[in-house]
Formats: sequence, structure tokens, C-alpha cells
Amino acid sequence: MASSRSSLHVVHLLPHGTQPHPTLAGILDSQNASVVQKHFEPGKALPKFSEKSAQVDVFLVQCDRSVTLPPPAKELAGSSSGGASVTSASFLQLLHSLSSSHPTAFICVCTVDPPSATGSELSRPESVGAAFAPSSAAASGAATAPAPTAGSGTDDPLFRWACFAQSVHMVTALIAAPRDLTEALRQVAAIKAQREAAAVDKAQHVPVYTCCWCPQDGLPEDALHAHLPLFHAHTVQPHAQPCPICSKQCTRLGVHLFNDHGPQGRGELASETRTRPNVLYPYALVVARRPRDGRFLVVQEFASSGYWLPGGRAENGEPLSEAAVRETIEEAGVRVKIKGVLRMEYHSNAARDDALRENASYARLRVLFYAEPVEGDEEDEDSPSDACKTLPNYESVGAAWISLEELKHVRLRGSEPQKWFPYVAEGGTIFPLQVLKE
Ligand SMILES: [Zn+2]
Ligand SMILES: [Zn+2]
Repeated sequence: MASSRSSLHVVHLLPHGTQPHPTLAGILDSQNASVVQKHFEPGKALPKFSEKSAQVDVFLVQCDRSVTLPPPAKELAGSSSGGASVTSASFLQLLHSLSSSHPTAFICVCTVDPPSATGSELSRPESVGAAFAPSSAAASGAATAPAPTAGSGTDDPLFRWACFAQSVHMVTALIAAPRDLTEALRQVAAIKAQREAAAVDKAQHVPVYTCCWCPQDGLPEDALHAHLPLFHAHTVQPHAQPCPICSKQCTRLGVHLFNDHGPQGRGELASETRTRPNVLYPYALVVARRPRDGRFLVVQEFASSGYWLPGGRAENGEPLSEAAVRETIEEAGVRVKIKGVLRMEYHSNAARDDALRENASYARLRVLFYAEPVEGDEEDEDSPSDACKTLPNYESVGAAWISLEELKHVRLRGSEPQKWFPYVAEGGTIFPLQVLKE
């Protein structure tokens, strides 16, 4: 699709004495980018750019394991590792100078495998980048605490963090994720094209906005929508800020802009804030067994619907295990002690068809507890013991202790007693209450 849009201006920075990585060159080529190569050296100032520097769209900083960052806490004892090492401060200074002199350019640090053919094999134990573990760096005193390296942009969290702290926008590893770099460049190019189209086609009066967190201006809505996650995923957001598009005061502007504007705002893509939240209803059910005769507690449910387990929905803020005890007292008149968990069930009917849209966000968490009645003499005399409630009320008609044999002959409201009573009687696994942290 040939278009009149201008290509990306990319400044490709690479350590002194290294070549552009062929894969990297290929990616830049595929994006039709106009590329300027600059080498950088440790301890030297940022290379000077031509008069076009104001129009740099992308800084691509190529680096390999020779780039070593200082360890976060302490100095390395012997600092001389490899002669060609692009150490620490100068690399971070480079990134810092890029972001401060070109605040609207996309800055990507791209780690590549070290050149295999050249003779400049650096002192770089294979384990240094990948095996860096902050907790294990102690004791031996010598230079055993490895510094973060650019061994791979995807497997050294300290290297990544140090780069992002200098306001870079992306740290990637060419070998691991060439597609990510390609996609990032495509998105930067798309944003640029939208911005240019809006500037050229002034007659259409496309509203344009300035980014909330950087000086990038002239962005139509969709370009701003794409710009924010690409450029500012790491940016700390102020607590309260007006939306540049609709002026709404937002506590989390990035969330608002992403979900309420652009394709999400128009309903073309799924939006978190336009989808009704999945309301979760928590239920506690109780399988209560009386040890002295092995009978199980069943509640006689309303309207002749049959016998079933005691239990019900937890109230606001009520732990499920407490709801289990409360419901068993209310429905069966029996005070139980919760002994463990038989099963947790999560059910969501979000997949139902549109006709049932009203119910579409219903979800249920049901925990099946195992319990035993509290012996009467453990409690004061007025408290319920294992004698069942018989006064009909809103909660139930009454309750009873039932044997497995009797269970076969009564009407049941649900199949749970048939499943779980024999399971418990035969010594099925009962999980400790701690599996449910409340
Ligand atoms: Zn911005
Ligand atoms: Zn808004």
C-alpha cells in the first residue's frame, strides 16, 4: 500500500567497533525507515546529530553483553573486566541524553547476541546475565556480585529497570523477540502517519491533542490512544488529571483513555469500563456429619422442594466460613464447627446468549465445607446443640439428621447430598481450612 506518508527517521546507535546486526538492519529495511548510524563510546559525549535531529522518530540503541551496568547497591571490587566494555554510567548517560534532548522520540534499547565471528571475545561468563539473583549476592566478598548486563533485554530485570529509569520506552532482545521490535516500529510509524494526516488535512478539522505526559502534540484521538501505552507504559501517573479529550477528571487517566476513547470508546474493541463487571456471589454450603451415629444434616427446604444441604449466600464482608456456621444455625438450628473444605466451585455464565444479557455477568463462588456439630456441653445451655430446628419459618421448614439408607428414599432439592455424604462416609479427602484464606 503505497502512500505519501513519510518514512520513519531512525537513528541507529551502536557501540564503537561493532556492526549493525543483520536482523536489525532487515527489520529497519522492512519498515522503509531512513536510518542514520552512529557509534557511541564509553566516556564520550553523545554523538552529534545533523540538523534533522529534531525530527528523529526512533532511537534504536543496539547493545550486547559488553554493556554492563553498575550493580545497584555496591561497587564492583575490580572494575576492569573487558577492555571493550561500555560501562555503566556512560551507557545510562547516553540514554538520558537521548530522552532529555528528544522527549518525543521513541527510544528502544535492543540487545543482540555478541558478534560471533569477530575476534573481540569479551570476558563474559554465560551465566552473568541470566543468573543474576539479588538475594544470592553476598558472602564471598570478591567480585562475585554480577552487574546487570545487556546479555538479553528480556532476562535481566535490573538491566531493564535501569534503562526505563532513563525514560527509554522499550527494552527488547533481538533474538528472542524480533517481532516485538517490528511491531513497535509499525505502531510508531502509524502514529506518525495519523499525526501528519491531521496536520495536512486541516480542512477536516480533526481535533488533535497533546500528550498528557510528554510534549508530543498534534495527535488525533486514535494516535493519542496508541501513543500512551507505547510511550508511557512505565510512566508514573499523577493522582488526578483531566482527560485531554473529554476533560473528565481522572484518577487513572491511562485507564480512562484506553477504555473510553479510541477504538475501545467507539465499541470497536472490548473495553474494560464498558463491559459490566462480573458480579461475584459467594455461597457457603455445609456437609455436616454427626460422629456419634454417622448421620448427615439435611434441611427441609421451602415449598416441598425437598431436602438439601444447609447453606446460603455470605453477607457483605462476611467470611464464608462464618456464613456457613450462621446459615446452618438459621436453616437447621444446629451449631457446627467447620472442620475443612470439600470443594470450591466457580461458575460464570458470561457465555450465555444475548437474550439473557441481564444475567450475563453473573458469577458464583461456592465453597462446600465439612463440619461437625458442636457438642451441647461445650456451649452454654441456651445455645443450639445438634438438635434440629423444627419451627417453620422463612429459612426452612425444619431439618433432620439422615442416614445414608434414608437418603435413598427422600426427595432432594439437589444432588449434592447423594454425592458428598457417601464421599465423607467413605473417608474422602477433606482439605484443611487453611486452603481458604479469609
Ligand atoms: Zn507522550
Ligand atoms: Zn476522556
